[in-house]
Amino acid sequence: MNGQFFISLLNPGIGLLFATAFLLLWLNRRERYIAYAAGAYTASALAFLIQDVGPVLPMELQRLPANFAFVATGCLFAAAIIKRYGLPIPWRTMAMTTAVSMTVFIWFLLVQPIIAARILAISIGTGIIAATVVVALWPIEKRHLIDRVLFWVAAVSALNLIIRPIVLLSLGGGFDNYVGFQQSVYWTTVQFSQAMVSIVAAISLMVAVAIDQIAELRREADDDNLSGLLNRRGFETQAARALRLCLDDARPVALLIADLDHFKRVNDNHGHAVGDAIIAAFGAHVRLIGPAEMIAGRIGGEEFAMLAPGAGIEAARQIAEAVRTGLHPACAGRIPAELCPTVSIGIAIAKPGTGLPALMQDADRALYDAKRTGRDRVRAFTPKPVRLAANGS
Ligand code: GH3
Ligand code: MG
Ligand code: MG
Repeated sequence: MNGQFFISLLNPGIGLLFATAFLLLWLNRRERYIAYAAGAYTASALAFLIQDVGPVLPMELQRLPANFAFVATGCLFAAAIIKRYGLPIPWRTMAMTTAVSMTVFIWFLLVQPIIAARILAISIGTGIIAATVVVALWPIEKRHLIDRVLFWVAAVSALNLIIRPIVLLSLGGGFDNYVGFQQSVYWTTVQFSQAMVSIVAAISLMVAVAIDQIAELRREADDDNLSGLLNRRGFETQAARALRLCLDDARPVALLIADLDHFKRVNDNHGHAVGDAIIAAFGAHVRLIGPAEMIAGRIGGEEFAMLAPGAGIEAARQIAEAVRTGLHPACAGRIPAELCPTVSIGIAIAKPGTGLPALMQDADRALYDAKRTGRDRVRAFTPKPVRLAANGS
């Protein structure tokens, strides 16, 4: 047993360690890209085990599964990164590259044995597969630092896999036999650089998993599952920011607060499930008709707030009327038409220096006025609320 033997255990060890880590992550967060990463590290561990530690088969046939596992590592790793972005995985390109690489490899193993040609076939094939990640990620916006890191891990791997064998083989010549190959500077650099790339790639992907998890928790903390809108916390955070931006740019901005009418009655008479279906219908309706920029949230049981950047009183009234008159059609198909409630809406227009709490208070006053004067209507706040020219009653 010599030093080379321990170096040989380096990559299988790293592979198995990270395969286990990604498997544990996948058990906790069932995302396909994490499973691909676990598969990539398993394949990598197997490839190096068969290559360096496994028994020698007649005609050196153990090289076949070892090198197939090398290429499979490349495919699974590329799939892991591409899948994280929800992009289509180029399986066909990968399969064709694998087939060509393995065919060339088999030719130079069984028909005309040349070690250097086999190295080129596998390394360049795997390099092309790594390059598919570069091609897939090239056009997308890399907002987070981790997106740029993953891109560069793929780019450096592709360059390393394609250029390294060409340079080293042209400098050092071929190999007479496998003992010479395994003790060569070439194979030592492969083992070392592969170990480095494996570690950097695994850590980058794990950071990506952590960032995805945090982003999901943040989304969950800000979302209301039932209505599909923001919850109160999410609404207040996003609306306060949008309000500030509008006022800084001297853009008009309106706040609408909507409250379903006599909702307790619906719940009491027809059950909570019907009430929930109405809340879901209202949320879907608001998402459908609201302007793209509008921030909408469910801020209470059957109370909703909408901040419409760019909307003055007329635009706000139009949005409110669309919400009010469109609720019945939006309920159709979810609950019997006669159970769908009406909705009252209060509007407030932001003045310079208005904060979100004050604006919400104004809209609430207008809503109270809409309720007081008969419900199923839209009211705008003025220091002394007055009836709008057009209303739905
Ligand atoms: P008003 O026209 O004055 O607004 O009358 P209302 O009955 O709608 O008002 P109230 O505030 O008295 O009742 C609100 C009801 O909303 C109470 C509760 O039964 C119902 N509610 C609150 N949250 C939920 C929810 O998540 N799901 C369902 N199904 N009902 C809810
Ligand atoms: Mg109500
Ligand atoms: Mg209410």
